[in-house]
Amino acid sequence: MSYCHRTADGSAIDLAVGKVVCVGRNYLEHIRELNNEVPEKPLLFMKPNTALVDIYQPLSLPEGLGQCHNETEIAVLIDKPLTAANQAQAYEAIWGYGIGLDLTLRELQSELKSRGHPWERAKAFDASCPMSGFVPKQQLSDPEDISFKLEVNQTVRQQSSSAFMMLSILELLVEISHSFSLLPGDIVLTGTPKGVAKLASGDHLLLTLADKLVIETRVA
Ligand code: ZN
Repeated sequence: MSYCHRTADGSAIDLAVGKVVCVGRNYLEHIRELNNEVPEKPLLFMKPNTALVDIYQPLSLPEGLGQCHNETEIAVLIDKPLTAANQAQAYEAIWGYGIGLDLTLRELQSELKSRGHPWERAKAFDASCPMSGFVPKQQLSDPEDISFKLEVNQTVRQQSSSAFMMLSILELLVEISHSFSLLPGDIVLTGTPKGVAKLASGDHLLLTLADKLVIETRVA
């Protein structure tokens, strides 16, 4: 089934499906768990629209390429163009919030990093970005305190809030828009908290975003 942006109750949202702009290392405890350095400037990368899939469908992971890790992230759906924006313009351009996975082939990523190569093969492959429906921004009044959680097989694996981001959602949109214009239908993934780990065939996933979204899915 091809992906389109949807509301939390499954209605289609009339926006093109654009790129996904992601930030690495936006939560201190995740930087520590992978022994990475705290970046001076946010570390940005992208996934093409072919990475997006409906998170409610069973997740298919690449085979034969080593461990594939969960990275659970708050997703921001953009509905107005943003170039070199300020925070007020950034807020205006938000349609709403969802929750997505930045699936990562961790062993391949480590190998690419050690060779100084780009990450795309480890992060931007087809179906690397399972995405929920979106909640209108008015329903989550404080973007600086959106809680979220991933449980795998009934055990909490990742749990945090946008309150713990190093760059807030609005600061992040401003920063991104100074390097890459955001267009209606683009998504911004806002970084993962600690708790990244290997997903396995048959895993049951329960994702929640504040008190607005509860999503059950599984790894195929
Ligand atoms: Zn990520």
